[in-house]
Amino acid sequence: MSLLDELYQDVILDHYRKPRHHGELAVADVVQEGINPSCGDELTLYLKAEGGRLSAASFVGEGCAISQATASLMLGAIVGGTREDAAALSAAFQRLIRGEDVGRDLGDLEALAGIAKLPARVKCAVLPWKTLDEALARLPEAS
Ligand code: ZN
Repeated sequence: MSLLDELYQDVILDHYRKPRHHGELAVADVVQEGINPSCGDELTLYLKAEGGRLSAASFVGEGCAISQATASLMLGAIVGGTREDAAALSAAFQRLIRGEDVGRDLGDLEALAGIAKLPARVKCAVLPWKTLDEALARLPEAS
């Protein structure tokens, strides 16, 4: 394993052990559940929007390190941004995880790029983003 791989592994383990934006939101505009039956990962995503921005978001869930760390990394990247930014990031991440060219810097999320080579785990990394896509589609237009 190269030093770079180890660094990326550290990012994933760190977010798995100390997930950011973890817990239920008392007041949310959308609560969306997602399940990845092939691994048993479960996720509930909470989104709150204000003035076109995702003012708060969080998750609770159970599952493998990849699914839970991805949720933590994802929320860190979308909270405070616009819903359009979140949708664009989701599309870009899903290209990254399929091993396709993304054409932009995804920051800490690139720690997950190696999963493209692990087909059995791709659904784990994609679960939080699919759940986000569904949550964004249900977010009221005015918020
Ligand atoms: Zn999993």
